[in-house]
Amino acid sequence: MRDDEVLAMTERYGTHNYHPLPVNIVRGEGLYVWDGSDKRYFDCIGSYSAVANGHASPAVVAAAKAQLEKLTLTSRAVYTTELALFLKRVCEYTGTDMACPMNTGAEAVETAIKLARKWAYSVKGIEPDNAEILVAKNNFHGRTTTIVGFSTEAQYRDLFGPYGTGFKVVEFGNLDAVEAAITPNTCAVLMEPIQAEAGILFPPEGFMAGLRRLCDKHNVLLVWDEIQTGFCRTGKKFAWQHEDAEPDLMCLGKALGGGVLPVSAVVGKRKVMEVFEPGDHGSTFGGNPLACSVAVAAMDEMDELDLAANSACQGKRMVDAMRAMAKGPLASVIQDVRGRGLLVGLEVRPEVDTQALQSSFLKHGVLTKETRSRTFRFAPPLILDDGSLADLLARVERALTPD
Ligand code: PLP
Repeated sequence: MRDDEVLAMTERYGTHNYHPLPVNIVRGEGLYVWDGSDKRYFDCIGSYSAVANGHASPAVVAAAKAQLEKLTLTSRAVYTTELALFLKRVCEYTGTDMACPMNTGAEAVETAIKLARKWAYSVKGIEPDNAEILVAKNNFHGRTTTIVGFSTEAQYRDLFGPYGTGFKVVEFGNLDAVEAAITPNTCAVLMEPIQAEAGILFPPEGFMAGLRRLCDKHNVLLVWDEIQTGFCRTGKKFAWQHEDAEPDLMCLGKALGGGVLPVSAVVGKRKVMEVFEPGDHGSTFGGNPLACSVAVAAMDEMDELDLAANSACQGKRMVDAMRAMAKGPLASVIQDVRGRGLLVGLEVRPEVDTQALQSSFLKHGVLTKETRSRTFRFAPPLILDDGSLADLLARVERALTPD
């Protein structure tokens, strides 16, 4: 099919809940994807951080193929070797005690909310239906009705009510605001370590560790949503590891699926995870053998290639180079460059036409999209090397240079 036919058919038959770049991607390999005219693009969207191992990672694809021919779906009505191996691997990888497998990120967040609430009533002793969870302003945790109910972004939330209760919004990065919001009914604080969708926003240094201390002081669970920041994206396996901020529960997704399948999970401490009893929670596809094999292969490869170290090193080079551009001839275009590892945001000045810039990136073969605050996200696969980084930076510089 021609590229223009693909675009037209998608818009004709699909709901319009996305505004995609006008490009039809037909193939992907490593850091690059190609359109129907064989034009090559550097993929800095990386499926919103889900493609950490690179497109069509040979190791992950081989594991998927082998499993496809053996066993793909059983439901949790039975045991499988693949699920057992996955649970052990994900607990070892994350340094946690137990895991609950799901499929998408939003489901992992919903699972964490259920775990925190059941812990509130059965362990902490909060009166039924009174548990409160603190969340951050500008949060992004997915699109289910519960989750959008505590979003502070009008477009994500408005016209989808009535909303669930039991969530209190506090300022991101402000420990005093968090402590002031804690009551005897507070059971958990749920936050992203870095607010990626909101524009790659970092909390002040010490916030994550401070949150851990506050949670300890008030017997409140610390729940990190590492769905976008986890699995080496920020230069450590998990973003909370940049400080002494170990969570009680952690939501995982995106890169756990090796860029191949939706795989998510909640992992955490036994004292919380064990509140689930048979029948409390479930998913037909969660923990299926195909997903488990793919996830194990993805984690194995992350370790083998030391993607955390590579992300730290190449991410620093990317940020340094973009900051150098901002000090030179592109000072009139670039407002700020923020990043940790290969989660980098390039914020442009208010006078820049972001739609035109988006087209310029596309013209120069760079896939990137604006987040909520005039910030273009650069989250390429974590297999970036020196040569490909140089290629990317040259394309970015050309795209940013006014005609
Ligand atoms: N949490 C965070 C931090 C995310 O960035 C996302 C997706 O972008 C989600 C949750 C939701 O994940 P999914 O789209 O797989 O439901």
